[in-house]
Amino acid sequence: MPSSSEVAHVEIRDHLRVGPGPVDLSTIDPAGTPGLPAGKETTRDPKLWSRGQVAAIGTHLASRQERLYAAAKAGSPHRLLLLLQAMDAGGKDGTVKHVAGQMNPLGLKIVSFGKPTEEERRHHYLWRIRRALPAPGIVGVFNRSQYEDVLVVRVKDLVAPDVLSKRYDEINRFENKEVGDGLTLVKVMLHISKAEQKKRLVERLTDPTKYWKYNPADVDERSHWDGYMAAYAAALSRCNTDAAPWYVVPADRKWYRNWAVAHLVWETLDELDPKYPEPDFDPAAELARLRAAK
Ligand code: AMP
Ligand code: MG
Repeated sequence: MPSSSEVAHVEIRDHLRVGPGPVDLSTIDPAGTPGLPAGKETTRDPKLWSRGQVAAIGTHLASRQERLYAAAKAGSPHRLLLLLQAMDAGGKDGTVKHVAGQMNPLGLKIVSFGKPTEEERRHHYLWRIRRALPAPGIVGVFNRSQYEDVLVVRVKDLVAPDVLSKRYDEINRFENKEVGDGLTLVKVMLHISKAEQKKRLVERLTDPTKYWKYNPADVDERSHWDGYMAAYAAALSRCNTDAAPWYVVPADRKWYRNWAVAHLVWETLDELDPKYPEPDFDPAAELARLRAAK
């Protein structure tokens, strides 16, 4: 067991990747901790352990992010997108704060998608998504995404069934093209239980500093829980390609969620292994010129 400043490395993607084939969310325990290293520290005080690990992973994340950013200055097309989907109170905002918060704001682009505005409604549903994608060198985070158009839209019957059924392949084509253009896509469903959601919504109504997070529509959405789970299962099953895989992160325990997502992004960036670019000038000659100058 490493000390809190060292990083315990596991192949987290193997634990969290879903499929191939139909995904059954009822088989994934929202309170589970897949891939968690066994040991005294994770048993005795998991929250403390997680804080230390996320901070340690954070330094690795930030250094990979800097290299990604630097490489783009020299023309590299690489960029990364962490896409977050979850039920209300599922922990999307907390994940942005704790995981994206480890990186340099200069190289981050964080976008939240709400109910489409009037202008957005006049366009194809992928219009606002394309505009929000990270440029080369940037780490993007989507708080909700194109998947709302096969989740809330499916649950609330906002489009005809034949329109909806075409969207899965359309999303696959869209993602595949972006991946071909240098995007690394990490799609994460934060999976909470219905009981945990209730607990978090109750907190939002009993703590005045959390009222702002509450939306009366959350109770109505909650009544469609089973419909949402079916819609998530369809999206996870039909849009789970090798180019753009889905990961399900059990999210009832916030400390596990933060650790797992940080680890997942780190592992992905590590595999991408961005490199500082070679200078397009002669550093020794430039140094001599600078020293000779007044
Ligand atoms: P919040 O994330 O709490 O700000 O809530 C955003 C709301 O916008 C959620 O209720 C989403 O279901 C809703 N939303 C996001 N995208 C869409 C979409 N494409 N169509 C309809 N509702 C959406
Ligand atoms: Mg909300």
